[in-house]
Amino acid sequence: MDELLTVTPKGLYCQTGNFYVDPWRPVDRALITHAHADHARWGSKKYLAAASSRHALRIRMGDKADLEFQPFGKPVTIGGVRVTFYPAGHILGSAQIKIEKDGYSTVVSGDYKRTNDPTCQPFEPVRCNTFVTESTFGLPIYRWPDPQNVFDQINEWWRNNQQSGTASMLLAYSLGKAQRLLAGVDASIGPIYTHGAVHKLNAGYEASGIALPATTYVGDVDPKETDWSRALIVAPPAAAGTRWAQRFGKLSVGMASGWMQIRGTRRRRSMDRGFILSDHVDWSSLLQTIRETEAENVWVTHGYSSIVARHLETMGLNASVIETEFEGEQLIETSDSGKEDAGD
Ligand SMILES: [Zn+2]
Ligand SMILES: [Zn+2]
Repeated sequence: MDELLTVTPKGLYCQTGNFYVDPWRPVDRALITHAHADHARWGSKKYLAAASSRHALRIRMGDKADLEFQPFGKPVTIGGVRVTFYPAGHILGSAQIKIEKDGYSTVVSGDYKRTNDPTCQPFEPVRCNTFVTESTFGLPIYRWPDPQNVFDQINEWWRNNQQSGTASMLLAYSLGKAQRLLAGVDASIGPIYTHGAVHKLNAGYEASGIALPATTYVGDVDPKETDWSRALIVAPPAAAGTRWAQRFGKLSVGMASGWMQIRGTRRRRSMDRGFILSDHVDWSSLLQTIRETEAENVWVTHGYSSIVARHLETMGLNASVIETEFEGEQLIETSDSGKEDAGD
């Protein structure tokens, strides 16, 4: 066990500071790495998160949640421990949380990535004694292509669809991935429309000062009077195959996710196109990051935990698997769980 964190039935707990990090049950005080549903769970009395997650977290948690925010890199003392938020590069406002006391430090990474993303601050490696890492794509088969190549493929797909009079619907998780896509596509190709869930979160990103291209909420136009054949429609995965999607007529469906690296995933979900774009680290950046933290102890959670832990032991590290009650990210990246995303 670590000096600063223990695993409890409610989640990772810091006894000295009397707070939890991304707890999966309601607690008195929750520190939150980012606004995705498997990390920011409902019902806790008080929340503390990074300042740049303000708008997205408010949209996800509602008006009643007691949210407090802390700027990146600025330590705050809670109980007897020092807590500092550092950028995780996963989505806007996503943080690694560093907890320190008497020269010992533990960093909880939440989810993180190392590839370029203009919609959030880049990941900063933070030195620590214990590093708690995600492992969503912790298998050697996962290697991300250059994001610019992926955007070139998306643009080409959209142009080709236009030429054959087909609307392009791009499926992506509504918080983070959708905004990253919007910031990366060539908006001069044609009009861009958004599903309600994406539309709502775009507003949160824009309120945070993130530049996104002009888009129109699908619900604001008359579907019969709209020429969808030149359009790109950005929607959460749950929108595929629904009545909502029928309005677009002849439609090509693409999906942007790390899971698209596996051919079978694409076939199972009957996508026309899969684009490999992830907001998580791939295998080599996962290992590189762990080396950069210089941590001697690594706790592995969220994904291929036991495979990653076994590999880290061969690298001479003390590795252990942390079982979380709610392993939501695989589900989220493919099906975009959460009721607020299912609607219009
Ligand atoms: Zn996440
Ligand atoms: Zn996650």
